Amino acid sequence: MIGESLLANEPVIRLSAFIGIFAIMALAELLQPRRQLTVSKGLRWFSNLGIVALNTAIARVIFPMAPVAFAFLCAENGWGVLNLVEWNGWLKLALAVIALDFFIWLQHVMVHAIPMLWRLHRMHHADLDYDVTTGARFHPIEILLSFAIKFAVIALLGASPVAVLIFEVILNAMAMFNHANVRLPLGLDAVLRMLLVTPDMHRVHHSSIPQECNSNFGFNLSIWDRLFGTYTAQPSLGHENMQIGLDMFRKDKDERLDQMLIQPFRDATGEYAINRRDWNKP
Ligand SMILES: [Zn+2]
Ligand SMILES: [Zn+2]
Repeated sequence: MIGESLLANEPVIRLSAFIGIFAIMALAELLQPRRQLTVSKGLRWFSNLGIVALNTAIARVIFPMAPVAFAFLCAENGWGVLNLVEWNGWLKLALAVIALDFFIWLQHVMVHAIPMLWRLHRMHHADLDYDVTTGARFHPIEILLSFAIKFAVIALLGASPVAVLIFEVILNAMAMFNHANVRLPLGLDAVLRMLLVTPDMHRVHHSSIPQECNSNFGFNLSIWDRLFGTYTAQPSLGHENMQIGLDMFRKDKDERLDQMLIQPFRDATGEYAINRRDWNKP
């Protein structure tokens, strides 16, 4: 059975893709860095990778069913638009992967737009440097929220298990690629970002300037930001000189795992929620 072998191999496929891409990007960062790191890498990597381990464990306990398994359940029960139509299988696969990417983009805009959700998401932005580990640094409550949204979107779309697995592997790989502190040739960056999010494009989103932080919400396809008017091509201070992080969390201790976990409940919401963006500035 394709279904059973897919389910049995799903964790192995995801874990090998994670380790493989992580190793490639970490090496690329050493060989061809885009910026000098500003704080201790040891502390940041311990905290960022610690939060990955914590998130994996928490998600497994609260959502014992993986999204791929949930997609099987939807297919068996005929839930979701794509499970109701008789279209070509490849077309349905492509539509499901693209639609899942759109909903991830929309979710990202939403966590910047709603002040309470911004409190959860700002931990991703409070990283004072930007490298491959930043891509996996999300607060556990935001991870649980994304799981719930992902399940709802899978049920709504009727995305097939294969589409969900492909999307999850691509999202994971792209998150590590586009957070990497790597210098791509500018020509290659320009060609890639016609369709995909590149490290230079997503780095703008980690700028400490609210205007830039509320831009470039995409993780995989760059088209959503261009289409919906949230695209900023380059940071105003340039990639070497721009400041990464948030003004309100710049102390060394803010990079500690325990401080990261309590960050949503600390201090005021801050200046960064999208509704505070000055839309008249370029
Ligand atoms: Zn963000
Ligand atoms: Zn990011």
